[in-house]
Amino acid sequence: MTDQTTATIERHFRGRLIRPSDADYDNARALYNGMIDKRPRLIARCMDVADVIACVNFARDEGLPLAIRGGGHNGPGLGSCDDGLVIDLSTITSVRADPKSLTVRGDAGCTSGDVDHATHPFGLAVPFGIVSTTGVAGLTLGGGTGYLTRKYGLTIDNLLEADVVLADGSFVTASANQHSDLFWALRGGGGNFGVVTSFLFHAHPVKMVYAGPVFWEATSAKAVMRAYRDFLPIAPEDLGAFVGLKTVPSMDLFSREHWGKRACAVISCYNGSAAEGENAMAPLFKAVPPLIFNWMSAIPFPVMQALFDPLFPKGLQWYWKGDFVKSLPDEAIDTHIAQAARAPSELSLMHLYPIDGAVRRIAKDATPWTARDATWSMVIAGIDRDPNRADALKTWGREYWKAVHRYNLEAGYVNFMMSDDVEGRLQAAYGENYKRLALVKAKYDPSNLFRVNQNIKPALACELFCTVPSTTVRATWQI
Ligand SMILES: Cc1cc2nc3c(=O)[nH]c(=O)nc-3n(C[C@H](O)[C@H](O)[C@H](O)COP(=O)(O)OP(=O)(O)OC[C@H]3O[C@@H](n4cnc5c(N)ncnc54)[C@H](O)[C@@H]3O)c2cc1C
Repeated sequence: MTDQTTATIERHFRGRLIRPSDADYDNARALYNGMIDKRPRLIARCMDVADVIACVNFARDEGLPLAIRGGGHNGPGLGSCDDGLVIDLSTITSVRADPKSLTVRGDAGCTSGDVDHATHPFGLAVPFGIVSTTGVAGLTLGGGTGYLTRKYGLTIDNLLEADVVLADGSFVTASANQHSDLFWALRGGGGNFGVVTSFLFHAHPVKMVYAGPVFWEATSAKAVMRAYRDFLPIAPEDLGAFVGLKTVPSMDLFSREHWGKRACAVISCYNGSAAEGENAMAPLFKAVPPLIFNWMSAIPFPVMQALFDPLFPKGLQWYWKGDFVKSLPDEAIDTHIAQAARAPSELSLMHLYPIDGAVRRIAKDATPWTARDATWSMVIAGIDRDPNRADALKTWGREYWKAVHRYNLEAGYVNFMMSDDVEGRLQAAYGENYKRLALVKAKYDPSNLFRVNQNIKPALACELFCTVPSTTVRATWQI
């Protein structure tokens, strides 16, 4: 890219353009997942929507690969690209909570911690994920599961409006009443349709929670996983609780005698008082063997949201595999325990996040996110500090996934996919909704400018009129 070429963007851009020759280029291009190493030609730290428009126009006119970076947490590093332009939104982070309308508007560079910080003084929260450094943008556009999901749904189920810069550089607001086809597609279809610059969410009453992790020795894992499986469907929806197979980290936080020991954990968050929370957990505790530690207590919700942040700083090696899970037979539990026992590092884990309650009360075609009849979203994550362990993390993740996949649904969650999954499993992830996504893509991004993502190919003209029922075409094109 010559100086002459970049001069065309500089004229319209107020933020900072970072080039490979800049001293902080390596820092600016670094992603959360240290396994991914991408070298963009230009990183555009945007200040406002006008900067985003300038970037979109520039990348389109110059034929440059274009990536959009929110929190930069994506497993395969889809918030960046080689040899192209990165629209970096991390400096656009204002948030405004409105306690009267029970809503919060957050810019697209916010982490979930930024939004939690702004809503907490008003006793409000939006269902986001379980690590507060995750970007709101990528998390939301892929779906979003967390502690509040059983009661209040996925993050997308709480999205009311999104401001979007489209491939032609125009700016629209998508909601149930405006560009409703685009609004539908944004709720799970990822970054395929444009650059979202801000999100308006419905927020819910959440202030103090009774929450924290409970750990058991690995020898109790079978009993704990069985008890959790039977307990979850009858537990009140105010309780978000996931089960995990882990290792007790060798950190001062934990008592030394347990360091490095394989363990089973249930991490829970009850939206209510300690007494109510203890009551909600009681049936589980009655059904399980003695535990090694129980750190549940009354804490502010943002503290729970940030609980795992110190364990997972930026730059670790991550290899992800995911599936949706309908049921958890005893044989599946045995397979999980056998595979988890072979984990290549202390940080490597398997989690099963609940998908029930409010998620199931929304129709499967109401958003592209299709797994509403699942019971859990499973993630296997091989994690370590040492880049030399990357191959071991991948091998373990793939073998573990292969061993348990036969018990699971075909589809997996797009936010838990690496690149090797995206090729083969994307259509399954969207199921019946894939065709409709391709139609919306053809309308809003026909030349596939936004393709550094879990890419949905624009439907071809013949597909528009030959393979899709006319009612769907009409709904999609609003004719
Ligand atoms: C430690 C950790 C914990 C996690 N926990 C959870 C969890 O509890 N629940 C859950 O559901 N997921 C969870 N995830 C997965 C997470 O949702 C995805 O990794 C998500 O992609 C992260 O979003 P981001 O904005 O940080 O990522 P980025 O890497 O910045 O972007 C991810 C994708 O979104 C697109 N994108 C980003 N911003 C925009 C925008 N403004 N407009 C259009 N497209 C955009 C990008 O093109 C890219 O394809 C977790 C991930 C990590 C690393």
